[in-house]
Amino acid sequence: MSDSILKLIPSIPSFIPNSTAQIALMEYLNSIFSNTKIKISITNNIEFIDCGENFQEVVCPYCKQPLNMEWWGETMSILYEKHFIEAFFELPCCSQTTQIFDLIYKENCGFSKFVIEVFNPEIKLTVPQLSELEKILGCELKVINAYY
Ligand SMILES: [Zn+2]
Repeated sequence: MSDSILKLIPSIPSFIPNSTAQIALMEYLNSIFSNTKIKISITNNIEFIDCGENFQEVVCPYCKQPLNMEWWGETMSILYEKHFIEAFFELPCCSQTTQIFDLIYKENCGFSKFVIEVFNPEIKLTVPQLSELEKILGCELKVINAYY
């Protein structure tokens, strides 16, 4: 069976909310998604948060060209070794300097130490619910709709 996972990550990759905020986030999410499995994960290093089969391409934020996937894969493995910390590099398309975090991922993917996962949600988050979650978190959220 395939799974859809709603992933929520802070827009700042190294951001981890304190435990009070984590408990409040969980309570609020449980009130929205009843009878749904929700998991919070925290990792020591920044990890790539993927969107599974929804992944299409990575686009340059400057010249808007799709990036060569082989180049992106190689760049990702080099940066993965460095835990995505020193992540500045030159783009092959237009020679602009950027970070792996700032590329445009289609569908949305991201980089984070903190991930909330909602497994097979039956409803979508509304805009007010998302802003409430951001208020509790203390940081803007990035929404990733993953499909496996
Ligand atoms: Zn470019």
